[in-house]
This record gives sequence, C-alpha cells and structure tokens, in this order.
Amino acid sequence: MVRLNPYFAFGSYSFNAVGTTPKSRKDLAEAVQGKLFFAGEATEAAYFGTAHGAFMSGIRAAKEAILNTHVDK
Ligand SMILES: Cc1cc2nc3c(=O)[nH]c(=O)nc-3n(C[C@H](O)[C@H](O)[C@H](O)COP(=O)(O)OP(=O)(O)OC[C@H]3O[C@@H](n4cnc5c(N)ncnc54)[C@H](O)[C@@H]3O)c2cc1C
Repeated sequence: MVRLNPYFAFGSYSFNAVGTTPKSRKDLAEAVQGKLFFAGEATEAAYFGTAHGAFMSGIRAAKEAILNTHVDK
C-alpha cells in the first residue's frame, strides 16, 4: 500500500487557464519596489511549466536583483 503525505503534492507546474495572456506571467514576475524579485516556471512567458523555464527565470530574477542593488564597488 502506498502511503501518501497529505501535505505534499509531489510536484506541480502552472498552465494557461482560459484568459491567460503572456502579460499575466509578466505581471507575476514583476519585482516589488525593486526589492522583492520573483523567479519560477510560472513567471516565464515562453517556457512556463518546464525545468528550463524555471532555470531561465532564475537568471532573469538574479539579473534584476543585481541591477537593483546599489553597492559601491
Ligand atoms: C510530475 C512532473 C513531471 C514534470 N516533467 C517535466 C519534464 O519532463 N521536463 C520539464 O522541463 N519539466 C517538467 N516538469 C516541470 C518542472 O518540474 C517544473 O516546471 C520546475 O520544477 C519548476 O521549478 P520552480 O523552481 O519554478 O518550482 P519548484 O521546482 O516547484 O520549486 C519551488 C520550491 O519552493 C518550495 N516552497 C514552496 N512553498 C514554500 C514556502 N512557503 N517556503 C519555502 N519554500 C517553499 C518548494 O518546496 C519547492 O522546493 C514536471 C513537473 C511535474 C510535477
């Protein structure tokens, strides 16, 4: 018998519900006040729902964070 943890979904990924547009994902990815940055497959307009989309979103969010970090070098 397989025992399932009721609090663990065993993975998931987003999909485009009716009415979703590329802008929906762009909105989801939008940083808050240049201080809070979002990554994850759901924020990727072209490759959502995939591991490479998640990877690409991480690079994008990291670049945003670096560009918004004002540190004297
Ligand atoms: C069954 C299945 C098969 C798949 N097969 C493929 C495939 O063949 N090829 C492919 O490209 N993609 C596949 N995918 C999709 C791919 O796995 C996902 O798109 C990718 O893992 C998403 O990465 P992510 O970093 O956005 O999110 P996730 O990998 O879901 O990472 C989110 C992390 O946040 C953690 N977290 C959640 N809430 C909190 C919280 N409150 N506090 C702290 N941490 C939290 C979670 O534990 C998780 O570790 C598959 C997905 C599933 C479910």
